[in-house]
Formats: sequence, C-alpha cells, structure tokens
Amino acid sequence: MTERAEAPSVGVIGAGILGLTAALRFTQAGARVVILEREDRVGGLVASFDVGGTHLERFYHHLFRSDHDMRALITEVGLGGDVVWPKPDTSVLYGGRLYSLDSAMDVLRFSPLPLSDRIRLGAGIAYLKVEGNYHRLEGTTAAQWIRRWMGPEVFRVLWGPLLRSKFGDYAEQIAMPWFWSRVHLRSSRLGYLRGGFYRLYERLAEILERAGARVELGAGVRSIRAEAGRVFVETAAGMESFDRLLATIPTRLFMQLASDLPEEYRLRYDQGDFYGAHSVVLVLDRPLMDGIYWLNVNDPGFPFVAAVEHTNYMPASDYGGRHIIYLGNYLPMNAALFGEPDEDVLQRFLSALPRINSAFDQSWVLESHVFKAPYAQPIVTVDYHEHIPPHETPLPGVYLANMFQVYPQDRGQNYSVRMGNRVAREMLERLP
Ligand SMILES: Cc1cc2nc3c(=O)[nH]c(=O)nc-3n(C[C@H](O)[C@H](O)[C@H](O)COP(=O)(O)OP(=O)(O)OC[C@H]3O[C@@H](n4cnc5c(N)ncnc54)[C@H](O)[C@@H]3O)c2cc1C
Repeated sequence: MTERAEAPSVGVIGAGILGLTAALRFTQAGARVVILEREDRVGGLVASFDVGGTHLERFYHHLFRSDHDMRALITEVGLGGDVVWPKPDTSVLYGGRLYSLDSAMDVLRFSPLPLSDRIRLGAGIAYLKVEGNYHRLEGTTAAQWIRRWMGPEVFRVLWGPLLRSKFGDYAEQIAMPWFWSRVHLRSSRLGYLRGGFYRLYERLAEILERAGARVELGAGVRSIRAEAGRVFVETAAGMESFDRLLATIPTRLFMQLASDLPEEYRLRYDQGDFYGAHSVVLVLDRPLMDGIYWLNVNDPGFPFVAAVEHTNYMPASDYGGRHIIYLGNYLPMNAALFGEPDEDVLQRFLSALPRINSAFDQSWVLESHVFKAPYAQPIVTVDYHEHIPPHETPLPGVYLANMFQVYPQDRGQNYSVRMGNRVAREMLERLP
C-alpha cells in the first residue's frame, strides 16, 4: 500500500477555534494535517495580547452555560479545572442613569418604562426562555416581534438601541430566531478560562504539533484549485497539495480565493453583509464602574456601544493589579472609525468616560490599545439562512465551514467548535 493510501492528507485554512478543532479530529483519525494561518499566531478572533503578564483577548470573550461543545473541548485538553463561572453585573445606561438588568426583579424596577411595559418585557423574556422551537419564529423580524409582543416603548427604550449597536442600519431587518437565541441561550453565570482563552489555543497547537500536524503561521492562502483528485493551495511560500481541504475563512474570502467556483454557487451564497469589530482596551490604575461588568450604552452621543470592565468579572490581581476596560463597536467594514489614527480615536473615547463615571481622569490610564477585525459579525437578516452554503463545495475535495454558517445562534466559539467537530466527521466519513 502507498503511504498516501494509509494516511490521507488534509489541509486546513485558518487557525481559529474552528480550524484547530477540525484539525484535532483529523489528526486523531490518523490523517496528515497541515494548518495554514495568515496571521503570526493562532486564535483568529480570539487572538490575545499581554496585560501584566497574562493573556487577554483583544475583544471581550466569555461563555454561557449552554456552550457545551466548547466546555467539552476545554475539558478534553485538560483545562476544564481552570474555567470559572462568576455571575457578573450587566447594566444599561439610559437617560444618564445606570440600571442593572440581571434578574426579573431588575426588569420590574426598570423605571424608564411604565409598569405595564415592564410586565410585558418580563413576560416576553420568559416566553423566549421556555420556547424551544425557533422555527415558529422564522419569517419575522425581531423588531416586528418585540413591538408586537413586548410593546413599541420597550423596543424604543431597550431593544432598539441594542439591535442598532450590533447591526447599525440593519437593526430593523434582523431575524427573530437570532433574537430568540440571544435570550434563550443566555445565562446569568458567565464562563471564563482563567489566564485567558489563549491558553486553549496554545494547548491545541501543542497537541497538534506533538501528533505530527504542521501549523504554518504567516501562511496566507492566495488561491485554491481542485484538479485530478487533489486540492492545490498557494501561499507566499509556494504550492501545497492535499487529498482534502477545509477552509474556515469567511465565505466571501473563500469565493475570492477559489476562482473556479461556478457562477450559480456565487450568486446563491455570496450574499449578505458583515460588520467589523473595533475595540479600545484601556488599562487603568483603578476601577471605572462600580462593580458593573457589561454596560450597554443606550444613550445617544457616545462613540462606543458597550463598556465591558473585564476586572469586574476576573480579579484585577490576575493582571498585576491593573483594571481593564473594553470600549466596543460593531461597524460596516468601510466605516471611518477603522481608518482614523489611534490617538484621535482614543481622545474621543476618553472624553466620553466622565458620562459613565464623573470622577474619571485621564491620568488613570496606564496603557491603551486599539484593535480592529474585519468579518466579525454576520448581519442575520430574515432570509439569511437561505444563503448559508453547505459544507461540501462544488470543488471536489474542498469543504467550507465558518462562523457565517452558524444559525440562528449568534456566532461564538461554541458554535465553531460544534461545526469543526461536525465537518471533520463528515469529511472523514467520505475519505476513501
Ligand atoms: C467583539 C467580539 C466579541 C465576541 N465575544 C464572544 C464571546 O463572548 N464568546 C464567544 O464564544 N465568542 C465570542 N465572539 C465570537 C468568536 O470570537 C468567534 O465565534 C470565533 O472566534 C470564530 O472562530 P473561527 O475559527 O470560526 O473564525 P476565526 O477566528 O475568524 O478564524 C479564521 C482564521 O482564518 C484566518 N484566515 C483568514 N483568511 C486567511 C487566508 N487567506 N489564509 C490563511 N488564513 C486565513 C484568520 O486569520 C483566522 O485566524 C466574539 C467575537 C467578536 C468579534
């Protein structure tokens, strides 16, 4: 038997959680695996940097109790004991005041709404928590559903600003099943891998390399071609060829790399819009918010839509006693903010902070960082699910699995892990 017959070769494009999970399954099944990653590190959207000697994600990350696939993977690689589940405070800034919104009692106390609307809000949330079948909600927008069942005022004060903060001008078009999943799957306890999620990515890369897989960093793929039963992938370093290829990059980027894809496939699946993520991370010498972890900014005139104080969730002592706050935005990828000099962005963001804590002074800032990521948030409109491509593509041996195929849940590490497990199984079953 030839070596190839004994051990098929599989290429994986992308070393985010989806690519690494699938690569782990291929390696466990005995395939020869090469992972090609454009960046100089693994992690994709969960790439991290160093604060006080500890890894910190460039964009805020946590888990929900319902993230079973991600929890199982963390346990599988031996890090399960380091996941902690605090119950941090979530609040909203409305009319210049902070309101906690963590419990049914908080909803009943939410004074910007009349009591009758608070009761409708609570009843709507309770319904979405118990409704197990999102298909019933298909075909309608979240905006229509919320106005009808929770009331127009609840939409105006609470959910409208939240939908706009995530989807901008698309806020009125977002599919109700997406909103269902946000309420249905959310838990009040949030999970974090102490020391940073990057520990999981590092561990996965180690396990893969020990098992003989090759993790190539700085290996941006330029083209994909399928010919004579093999798949050819071009990077700056040259051409690699495989029996099978799994691309975990956004569908639009995949379409650009695979020039032989048929027109009807492009027309059907190269659809929809995506937003990029922007985050300013401030490292402060003291806390900014009084115990609040997550603050939705529902007041107009702020340059960011959420303030997330990581060290009101994880202890500041994990970061050398420093306090960490993310100021986040989701925006069209051509938005002016992505092109502005970091110093200008920083000044604008800092000048808004006294509206959250009037005592804030710029002398509290020890470090600041600005991070940007394209293709960070799919825009889940009502017809979104009709344009999700299957994993098997028209190019023989080439498979596509990415976070833009997650539906109706909001993209998250858990769903990339689930998809990585599933697509690897599908590909392995079809290997000779
Ligand atoms: C602001 C923000 C907050 C989030 N919060 C949470 C959270 O709280 N909890 C949670 O679980 N998830 C959260 N997520 C989502 C989570 O980050 C993603 O769901 C997950 O990281 C997706 O992993 P992936 O492997 O599918 O994709 P990615 O991480 O995007 O990986 C794709 C990889 O492909 C590489 N690549 C692209 N093009 C090429 C090319 N041509 N050649 C080679 N490589 C290429 C990229 O560099 C990248 O490493 C958040 C995301 C954002 C942006």
